[in-house]
Amino acid sequence: MLIEVASHARKYAHAPYSRYRVGSALLAASGHVYSGVNVENASYGLAICSERTAYVKAISEGECEFIAIAVVTDNGGAPCGACRQFMSEFGLDTIVIQADVHGHYTLTTVGELLPDAFTPAKLAEAKRRRTPPSRPRRAAPGTP
Ligand SMILES: [Zn+2]
Repeated sequence: MLIEVASHARKYAHAPYSRYRVGSALLAASGHVYSGVNVENASYGLAICSERTAYVKAISEGECEFIAIAVVTDNGGAPCGACRQFMSEFGLDTIVIQADVHGHYTLTTVGELLPDAFTPAKLAEAKRRRTPPSRPRRAAPGTP
């Protein structure tokens, strides 16, 4: 079902530059499914991938837990590194279904796609270990 939703969404991809159309369907723990497409821009660096589009739509609707995401491309391509990091913020166990237009697919997880991910837990751990900076000492008046 997620592959069908992603495949349908893919029709709305805005990919006039790469012509690499991508559609996603993200299943939230609530049971709702959020679709996404890649949206390119004449200023290439502003492009956003379909996976992040789906996550942003879901999160902006109040979702924060996810079960699975299907990503459909011509060739069953894997999510890019930026999307892997983005998705890792919301769970390493989220299933990633990478499908091509012929219905062939593979299953993996966000954690498998991004081993040793930089997660919110790692950031919190780093903050706990950080010692407060020492205050710079002022020279006593009259000293060089
Ligand atoms: Zn991406």
